[in-house]
Amino acid sequence: MTAEIIAIGTELLLGDITDTNSQQLAKLLAKHGVDHFRRGVVGDNLDRAAEAIKESLSRADVVFTIGGLGPTPDDLTREAICQAIGDQLLVDERYLEYLKKRTRLANREWIPSVGRMAERPSCATLLRNDIGAAPGLLCEKNGKFVIALPGPRSEFWFVAEDSVEPWLAKMSGSAMFMKTIRIVGIPESAVCEKISDLLELSHPTVAPYAKMWEVHLRVAAKERTAEDAAKTAEPIVQEIVRRFGDSVFGFDEQDLSEVVVKKLLEANKTVSTAESCTGGMLGQRITSVPGSSGTFIGGLITYTNEMKAKSLNVSRSDLERFGAVSETVACQMAEGVRRLTGSDFGIGITGIAGPGGGSELKPVGLTYIALASETGTTATENRFPGDRELIRYRATQTALDMLRRRLLGS
Ligand code: ATP
Ligand code: MG
Repeated sequence: MTAEIIAIGTELLLGDITDTNSQQLAKLLAKHGVDHFRRGVVGDNLDRAAEAIKESLSRADVVFTIGGLGPTPDDLTREAICQAIGDQLLVDERYLEYLKKRTRLANREWIPSVGRMAERPSCATLLRNDIGAAPGLLCEKNGKFVIALPGPRSEFWFVAEDSVEPWLAKMSGSAMFMKTIRIVGIPESAVCEKISDLLELSHPTVAPYAKMWEVHLRVAAKERTAEDAAKTAEPIVQEIVRRFGDSVFGFDEQDLSEVVVKKLLEANKTVSTAESCTGGMLGQRITSVPGSSGTFIGGLITYTNEMKAKSLNVSRSDLERFGAVSETVACQMAEGVRRLTGSDFGIGITGIAGPGGGSELKPVGLTYIALASETGTTATENRFPGDRELIRYRATQTALDMLRRRLLGS
């Protein structure tokens, strides 16, 4: 089965919003082994949207549209589908009743344009949308399909998971197994070198993706059933894990912070943070993990020297002598916050995130990260490439990985 995606919306063409829905849908198609060779974007224009749908239908078995299902005059997807496949709109009376009831229950006045969301091409069935009022549409014509999904992200994803995914599984007749192995602390080129033989495999395939200070390796196999596909892929997954050992921190969607919080909770240990250049980003990443309250005691953002000295007891003479961005200060920050909070681990980060403030001796990107615990304090000197945001993120990534490795005992 082949599919194409057309995202409809002038906002997308103007670059005001990013087409994340297509991206998510593409992943879903890949997961179900549906071939997806093209996708497009058109504005809120009836003729152009209809033309795009028609053109895609001439090539693909299924055309997905995203957006333009709302009640406003610029929401033209229903009309565009009719124009493309030669169908007529009719009012789905049951859905119209549902919309009216929904309006009554919400104590709102009925606005006639809302009724447009009960219109559908005569060949279409409605796809349930529990998040919003506009249902998705599944249209079948001459053995081909047009599936229309709403634009707002949560509505889009609801319909995609609730209706599209089961439909794809039923239709595709083949299944995909995919597993992403997440590696930290090794540059992409070195990762690829270590698995150059595996990168040449044609089934399963192994694809590298360089992410923010991590490398992801995605192993994918396509077979008749999901079980068979998993069986084909698993040995390669295991081989990759064997080659990278402790540098593999997780799989699929697992974030490094999530892995670290889980390990801390398992070990029944607590952590606290003292951040300078990352301005709380490390604390933010830790606390974004549900359940982190069981391990994270707190964090301080100590930006100035004065704050470092006052709240963390960093030595004023060391600040003077070595500068705020130094190994000594990072260590004293980690030890200071550990002492202050009574946590098992204390992390200190100090660096130059740029774009200004660098010097020959201390260039932008120079970051010291220290980890203090009962067994002592260790620090790393890092020279992170990238802009301000990347440098800050990479610092949090490195800090989390230092803690992860300490918890592994390596
Ligand atoms: P509504 O009922 O809100 O009008 P709709 O189905 O008509 O929904 P649009 O009007 O096309 O959808 O888009 C509504 C909002 O949904 C956009 O402002 C945008 O925030 C989001 N959106 C639309 N298309 C996409 C897309 N392809 N990727 C990500 N977000 C999108
Ligand atoms: Mg709209």
